[in-house]
Formats: sequence, C-alpha cells, structure tokens
Amino acid sequence: MHPILDPGPAILAEAVEVVPYPQDRPLDEANISQAAAGCIGILSQLMDPIRDTVLATPGLRCVSNVAVGFDNIDIPAATARKVMITNTPGVLDDATSDFAFTLLMATARRVVEADSFTRAGKFHGWAIDMLLGQDIFGATLGIIGIGRIGRGVAHRAKGFNMRVLYYDPQPLPPEAEFQLSATRSSLDRLIAESDFISVHVPLTPETKHLLSTPQFEQMKRNAILINTSRGPVVDEAALVQALQARKLTGAGLDVYEREPAVHPGLIAMPNVVLAPHIASATVRTRSEMSAMAARNMATAVRGGRPPNLVNPEVKR
Ligand code: NAD
Repeated sequence: MHPILDPGPAILAEAVEVVPYPQDRPLDEANISQAAAGCIGILSQLMDPIRDTVLATPGLRCVSNVAVGFDNIDIPAATARKVMITNTPGVLDDATSDFAFTLLMATARRVVEADSFTRAGKFHGWAIDMLLGQDIFGATLGIIGIGRIGRGVAHRAKGFNMRVLYYDPQPLPPEAEFQLSATRSSLDRLIAESDFISVHVPLTPETKHLLSTPQFEQMKRNAILINTSRGPVVDEAALVQALQARKLTGAGLDVYEREPAVHPGLIAMPNVVLAPHIASATVRTRSEMSAMAARNMATAVRGGRPPNLVNPEVKR
C-alpha cells in the first residue's frame, strides 16, 4: 500500500512480485479492493481501511499490517474469509514508550511554548513566574493499558521516582508489579489521583471514548493527559471542552480521532503538545517494523505460519 524501509523491500522481493498501490488514489475500500485484485497479499498501514470488501478479494491469503495496532482491519471478517492478519508487536515498544514520556515531559514543562517564546524574542531576562510548569519527579502517573508499551512507560517512570497506578482488565503478575512499582487500580481511582495519565490500550469497541466528559470531570486540575495509543480512545471534542473549562491542565497527543485532521480547538491551545503520529518514528524502529512486516508476508505466501499472526484460527 505504501513504501516501507530497508531491509523490508528486499525481503519481500525474494518471495513475491510487488505491485505498488497508486499513490494518487484515495485510500478507500473500493479503490483498495480494485487494486488488490489478483494479489495474494496486502502490505497495509494503519490508515488503510481493510474491511470485508477488500478481504473478499479472491486468492487473498494475508494482510500484513506495518503497525502493532490493527483497528484498521476487520479481524472477524478476515477470519471468516480465512485471510491471515499479521502485525509488528515488540519492536516498537521502546520508541513508543520513549515518545509517550517525551510528550509527558514536553507538556509538563511547556517546552514547545518555551521554544516559541524564545524564538519570538520574548525572553527579556529571568523571571520568577515565567512559564511555570508541573513537577514530574515524584508525581503520580496513571497508565491505562499495561501491555508492552504501558509497561515500557512504567519502567521509565521508575527513573523519575513516580508513583505508578495502572488500570487494565488483565492484571500484571505480582513480580512485574513489584519490579515496576506499579499498583493496580480502578479507572475511577486512577483518574482521580493521577497527575499524569498515559493511554496505551488498543482501539476496540470497548475502548472507544474510554476517556470522555465524565472522566475529565474527575481529573485533578493539574492533570496532564498523554495519548499515544489511538485517537478515538479519547473523545476529542470532550477533551477540548474540558481543557477550555480548565478541568485539566494540558495534553500531549500523538494521535487524533479523525487523523490526519486535528480538532481546531486543540490547535489553538498552547497547553497542548501535538505530534503527527510519530511515536514509533525512529530510524531503527521503523526499519525493524518494515522487516518484520515483510517477513510475515513472505512466510504467509510461502505457505507457512507467519510469526505475528493476529488470527491464529486461520492457520493452525
Ligand atoms: P498490548 O496488546 O501489549 O497492550 C494493550 C493493553 O491494553 C493490554 O494489557 C490489554 O489488556 C489492555 N486493555 C485492553 N482493553 C482495555 C481496556 N478496556 N481498559 C484498559 N486496558 C485495556 O499493546 P501494545 O503493543 O502495548 O500497544 C498498545 C496500543 O498502542 C496499540 O494497540 C496501538 O494502537 C498503539 N500504538 C501506537 C503507536 C503510535 O505510533 N502512536 C505505536 C505503537 C502502538
């Protein structure tokens, strides 16, 4: 569907003939379906809608998503049509956790605002009340979703002596809780007690708008929300309203509800740090994601069981 980084193309070329998706065509199901005709696999990315129309392509055996999230793909439809779906877990944990922490620090200490301020020639000397931010060291961090990336963020928080609360239907094993100094909590308690809330759940029907007006109402006034998961997990219009009403102090966002569109209310706010979905964007990570996705595809088209199969029912 889109170019990938080395060594991905070479791995693919050994196994299949690659037909690039015409880059001037819209990324909708009808166009993707038309382009996929005659293909054994689709190497997709998170902005590509892969639903039943596409999955019904005769002869389609595998969709390899170059991402750990796969909310752009209808998994039950794929399973029903015996199409293998693969993703790229693990290789992006550190880069994504680093970036969640980058957004946390940048928002807390108003780095982007300070940079603009300095460049605009507004720095006329030290002032005791200039660009005051929030403390990070020793603060309480609430992690929603303590999977691979959530745990990575908890690990980083240890270096900042943070008190870590987490909310996840799947509890950590006791030794992992001990190692990460993380305490399981209800969502309500996490929201009420955290100075920073970082979201790391997959986008599913259950997690859509997991954070909306009732949750923003319960947050501490000094709270900062960090979202590097998927945009629709946060009700963006409700977030804008809550920020405008100062229910929380700020937000650091890498993902948006209607990407690539960003709510104009967010654009207008200096207490919000905005990034264009780059949490996994390091040279090494994006290259490893490309290689992993290419290996998944190569294995599938050769008749094997790809290492990162999301719907194992298709290939026992
Ligand atoms: P993971 O599967 O290892 O962890 C997800 C965790 O969320 C699991 O522990 C799961 O039990 C928990 N969870 C599921 N439903 C929940 C709910 N309703 N409430 C609370 N917890 C719930 O996934 P991961 O590899 O850590 O990635 C998490 C998500 O981050 C991905 O699905 C992806 O959408 C997103 N992501 C974004 C970027 C980016 O570039 N911004 C990069 C990597 C991943």
